[in-house]
Amino acid sequence: MKAFEFSNVVLDTAALQDEMRDVTCGGFAAFEGWVRNHNEGLEVTRLEYEAFAELAEKEGARIVEEARVKFGVTRAACVHRVGSLALGDVAVWVGVSAAHRDEAFRACRYIIDEVKHRLPIWKKEHYVNGDSGWVNCERCAMPAAHTHEHHEHHHEHAPIHTPDYSRQIALREVGAEGQARLRGASVLVVGAGGLGVPVLQYLAGAGVGRIGIVDADRLEPSNLHRQTWYALADCGREKSTLAAQRVQALNPEVRVESHALRLDNGNAERLAAGHDLILDCSDNFATKFLLNDLALRIRKPVLFASVYQYEGQLQLVRGDDATACLRCVWPEATRDGLVGNCAEAGVLGPVPGVFGSLQALEALKILLGLPGLTANEMLIFDLVSLNTQRLRARRAADCDAHRRAGAVVATPAPPELELTFATLAEAQAAGYTFIDVRDARERAEEPLPAPALNLPMSKLLSDAATLDADLRYLLVCATGKRSAAAANLLRSQGLRECRSLRGGIRGLKATA
Ligand SMILES: [Zn+2]
Repeated sequence: MKAFEFSNVVLDTAALQDEMRDVTCGGFAAFEGWVRNHNEGLEVTRLEYEAFAELAEKEGARIVEEARVKFGVTRAACVHRVGSLALGDVAVWVGVSAAHRDEAFRACRYIIDEVKHRLPIWKKEHYVNGDSGWVNCERCAMPAAHTHEHHEHHHEHAPIHTPDYSRQIALREVGAEGQARLRGASVLVVGAGGLGVPVLQYLAGAGVGRIGIVDADRLEPSNLHRQTWYALADCGREKSTLAAQRVQALNPEVRVESHALRLDNGNAERLAAGHDLILDCSDNFATKFLLNDLALRIRKPVLFASVYQYEGQLQLVRGDDATACLRCVWPEATRDGLVGNCAEAGVLGPVPGVFGSLQALEALKILLGLPGLTANEMLIFDLVSLNTQRLRARRAADCDAHRRAGAVVATPAPPELELTFATLAEAQAAGYTFIDVRDARERAEEPLPAPALNLPMSKLLSDAATLDADLRYLLVCATGKRSAAAANLLRSQGLRECRSLRGGIRGLKATA
């Protein structure tokens, strides 16, 4: 048996233990890490482990050897599961045989602690409500060791760091209110390549509450000169997954969803749903025009960035009837391949880096309501001459895309129904008045730690007329389900600015 190995089948711990038998040894110690049914208040139904296998195997073998030498034990081995695991499965097994029990215990402890801290292994949890999320496994080969602690029964308490936005909150234009807006915002990033990498880094760093990532490609060595977030050892893996893991490692507060698929007419609307802003970080015209037409159809802003050799441009399409879209500017629907993409044309790495950074900056400004690129202009930046130009982008009276969208959509889409906040104070800072839709008994058992109107579901419709249509209301209940239904009901009564607290009171941080 190898000192360290991965297994994608259920571990036979009795057989593993048999392999450790040695008549010269007086003691055997084993540790088993099990899949448990909850994490951070969420009920877990199953989970998946994924590893950077080559790297992890080498490091794992090194750890076991270290333990053998350090504690002078006779035999030591560790097996870690990958793939899909059920509740109760053994996720990791460590066995140590030694002359005496003390070194067996200590070596066993050393191996499991080091494995948890040093190996690049990731865990995806599936929850009862159908959601899933990547959970980063302690330090997960992240050298700075700034990641969340997690939840098996054995580990020591590592220092827990939480994101700190003080350096941007210090800006007068951001402040606590701006931070709350970022926290409540949701952005879909299409493309996790040269543009997507800086975009995702800065959005995650800034604390944008929810980020969706769409990318169908797998990482290739030729990507790395411009996609410097990734590692050579990542090549061959899905970029959407890699990017989601990097986002989560950078900022565990971000709710990140990854989609390893190509955007098309069949899935675009579903993927865009629930996001306030879409960022086009793609490298092909088919995707850009598809997003353009989607923006007009669902009336959602898309911020486009494109790079060609040493030049790039930014354009904001608001998706309304009054401002320009891509087809207004480029009426001859540009076929994919007419202008090369990075693959054919070549590009210096920092060029998409600059435009992705600009795109992230404009995105944050849009979310914060700060001035920036407007919808009727294009920013063109030549990185050879370093000249920038802002060109007018005119809404063309005969634009096909605008005409088609006008025929389909007559009224603007309503604002997002659900918002995510870490604390009620954040929501308050963002200008929301709370409506508690729980009944009196629930309120008494678990009082809301903030002033609120009490409007139980039973009285919702009869009392709707007493609400102020100009105020921004945030409805709350225990889990966010009733409040979402109630917000929908109130909207049908003409209260357009009703929102629901996603996840409810139980989703708030304990400090709230
Ligand atoms: Zn147009």
